[in-house]
Amino acid sequence: MAPQVKYTKLFIDNQWVDSVSGKTFDTHSPHDGSLLASVAEGDKADVDLAVSAARRAFHRNSEWRLLDASQRGEILYKFADLVERDLQYIAELESYDNGTVLSRAITFFNAGVKNIRYFASLADKVQGCTIPADGETFSYTLKQPVGVCGLILPWNVPALMYINKVCTALAAGCTVVIKPAEQTPLSALYLTALLAEAGVPKGVVNVINGYGETVGVALTHHPHVAKISFTGSLEVGKLIQQAAGASNLKRVTLELGGKSPLVIMDDADLAQAVPYAALGVFAHQGQICVAASRLFVQSKIYDKFIEASIQFAKSLKIGSPFDSETQHGPQIDELMMNKVLNYIETGKKEGAKLVTGGKRIGSKGYFIEPTIFTDVTDDMTIAKEEIFGPVQSILKFDTLEEVIDRANETNYGLASGIFTSNINNALQFSKHVESGVCWVNMYLGGGPQTPFGGFKESGIGRERGINCLEEYLEVKTVTIAQQKKF
Ligand code: NAD
Repeated sequence: MAPQVKYTKLFIDNQWVDSVSGKTFDTHSPHDGSLLASVAEGDKADVDLAVSAARRAFHRNSEWRLLDASQRGEILYKFADLVERDLQYIAELESYDNGTVLSRAITFFNAGVKNIRYFASLADKVQGCTIPADGETFSYTLKQPVGVCGLILPWNVPALMYINKVCTALAAGCTVVIKPAEQTPLSALYLTALLAEAGVPKGVVNVINGYGETVGVALTHHPHVAKISFTGSLEVGKLIQQAAGASNLKRVTLELGGKSPLVIMDDADLAQAVPYAALGVFAHQGQICVAASRLFVQSKIYDKFIEASIQFAKSLKIGSPFDSETQHGPQIDELMMNKVLNYIETGKKEGAKLVTGGKRIGSKGYFIEPTIFTDVTDDMTIAKEEIFGPVQSILKFDTLEEVIDRANETNYGLASGIFTSNINNALQFSKHVESGVCWVNMYLGGGPQTPFGGFKESGIGRERGINCLEEYLEVKTVTIAQQKKF
């Protein structure tokens, strides 16, 4: 049974409120299409109220600004404890709202708790420096929160994205207005209630549910929003850059899509490489930005690798996300399911060989079989565009030099990987591949300590890592004249 939904309104100035227009929209479960909740639908008027509240909370004399940095950290530690307390409930909520297999949702939330504690620990580690400038002066830098931040979330891993963005912004001392994805508002609302319970002062955290064209556009064009942190598609990322330029030159960080290459050299341990390659693209039904969606396999092992990959794909247990045995659940909604099925048709038409999967499963919910194409070439649509579904495209290559150039032949640059038993192959590949993350003899790893983000059109800026707060800080240089004699 679906968990009881406790919060469905907007959150402004620590109050749950209806939208100014009184409108609502529905959120459904992707596993059977059932209605989960009707949620208040915000608009520009609600964004204006939320930004005003966040501005008041950012005033130099506000309760928030007068807290010690270590006290901001304490609030986040408390938040981590509360997420841990309610972990099973929030994981179920997330699983119902976006179709994440429950066991994976639990893994995500355990990771989320670690991330919150990491960001909490950084709150009082923000330090400027002293500078040996010329002349009789004393120069130093202050690092100060940038101001009101608009945080725009995607639907694929909504809660983890919420945690990473909100906790980094709060640790830096900013105030925030959050826009969850319209498909998945529920975990963001519940996490916000926990932040309020943890003691965040009023106006510091605000949530406006709604659509990109209304709430998203109002936030990104707002003259009093100092920064936008966005995770989502390349197309919308570009619109956000334009909105920043057309309004107040707000700072922008973007975590966008990918077409990530994973290379399997013929000296790789196949028992290890096959499942990693499969889960690299089938995990969360392929709805992950770092999906290993271009799998390059060296010619000597090509046929053997394909045989083992087919077997692995066929062994995945497909079913209800809430069943503990399930490894493969539904796509987020009908629109995305049809988009993925269209890519599969395009793959067939353009001459790729479909060796397993390729079809929708049943007519209830939005399930697609784990699908493998072989004989894929670099010019095919399925090798170039982000599919965001459970489609593994296998390409053949002969030499490391050749595959590095082919791997880099994309506008994206988010993740990459290589399986090899030769350290020189690993060093050469990781040095020359154009991606923000590179995994060697593993895929999908990292934690709050490891910076994450993209080269090229996969984004701007980094989340996580020791320097993650910098994305939410301005540097101020202070120079003081000194008396020559004393
Ligand atoms: P999307 O770009 O359609 O939507 C993301 C968010 O932007 C939603 O909240 C949406 O309402 C909002 N939005 C839409 N139009 C807007 C506009 N004009 N102005 C402001 N906001 C607007 O992306 P999606 O389909 O929700 O997410 C999938 C995409 O996200 C994939 O491309 C995936 O690769 C990417 N992603 C990247 C990362 C990363 O860290 N690099 C992580 C997860 C997902």
